[in-house]
Amino acid sequence: MIARLKIASLSEWTSGNHRPFVIAGPCSAENEEQVLTTAKEIAEIGKISVLRAGLWKPRTNPGSFEGVGAEGFPWLRKAKEQTGLLIAVEVATPDHVKQCLDNGIDVLWIGARTTVSPFAVNDIAKVLKGQNIPVLVKNPLHPDIQLWAGAIERLNKAGITRLAAVHRGFYSYEKTKYRNVPLWEIPIELKRRYPTLPLLTDPSHLCGETELISEVSQRALDMGFDGLMIESHFRPESALSDARQQLTPSALAEMLSGLKVRNIEPAPTAESDMLESLRAIIDETDEQILHALSRRIEVVKEIGALKKERNLTVLQIKRWNNIISSRLESGEKLGIEQKFLMKILAMVHEESIRIQTEIMKGNGAEKKD
Ligand code: PEP
Ligand code: MN
Repeated sequence: MIARLKIASLSEWTSGNHRPFVIAGPCSAENEEQVLTTAKEIAEIGKISVLRAGLWKPRTNPGSFEGVGAEGFPWLRKAKEQTGLLIAVEVATPDHVKQCLDNGIDVLWIGARTTVSPFAVNDIAKVLKGQNIPVLVKNPLHPDIQLWAGAIERLNKAGITRLAAVHRGFYSYEKTKYRNVPLWEIPIELKRRYPTLPLLTDPSHLCGETELISEVSQRALDMGFDGLMIESHFRPESALSDARQQLTPSALAEMLSGLKVRNIEPAPTAESDMLESLRAIIDETDEQILHALSRRIEVVKEIGALKKERNLTVLQIKRWNNIISSRLESGEKLGIEQKFLMKILAMVHEESIRIQTEIMKGNGAEKKD
């Protein structure tokens, strides 16, 4: 069941009407000079609404720089006075939340390592009850949309309506060009479930290096996401954490001005009529795909019954290999990307195996657990 969330719009807690909505700042607050210089240069860009800076850093290895803690509050206060930017800090414990509230922090964010723990999120939600401070919820480390949605719902239940989700990519065992793989389908599904929940992408933690940041930021805007959370440091090469992924404020300005912001709703023109008719073709084609799938499932059931009668195994490797090679051959002729087709074939086959396994057990068929 999808809970209905009561979400405030971004304009309720941010001034200006920036699209995209951009949060930028160093991975960690390191010293007063670094915070103030970075904040000033970021504010001068004119497109940033919130300054981010971590005070308590969740680090994989003990001994790495773990943040300056409460010592950084006066620097952040000065940064706010000097630039007018709202200030955002990561919180992982009720004590962090209390300290941030006592020190006038404007926005909190919950990091990927905290979203994974319903206990931690509950503890944070409890101390936030009655406060309407904006909270950003990063996706959990691994691709589990339920944990992400669960954290957002827990905070909303505690009365926090100023919420936003931050897509920062997901851990993957496979080596990829990203530090965390984007798996765009997950934030898209989150947007489908909660259409009014603002959704930002954090290209810095997703990419792990500056080179890929503009491509990923553009992709997020192309998806109609609301904004970006980007790490920026006045001297990235000397940063105490995440040095490789932080942009200088001037590189950030250049990157932002290269982004194309697209319209979410088409203007009523001849082109939008064209868009409507093309969408009608898509609707019709999807309907045909569904009918074909349903026909296939019926045949799979008949085959399952036959296999049972003849005492044959559900999985027939030779047949599966033949299916793959013949479908890939046709797919290539039809201009379908091999990797994409392979994923679909594997899913269809997995479902057929599931259905036939149920038949073998004598359960008739398709009930999912
Ligand atoms: C961060 O934003 O500095 C951070 C630690 O990010 P994440 O929780 O996405 O790893
Ligand atoms: Mn970081």
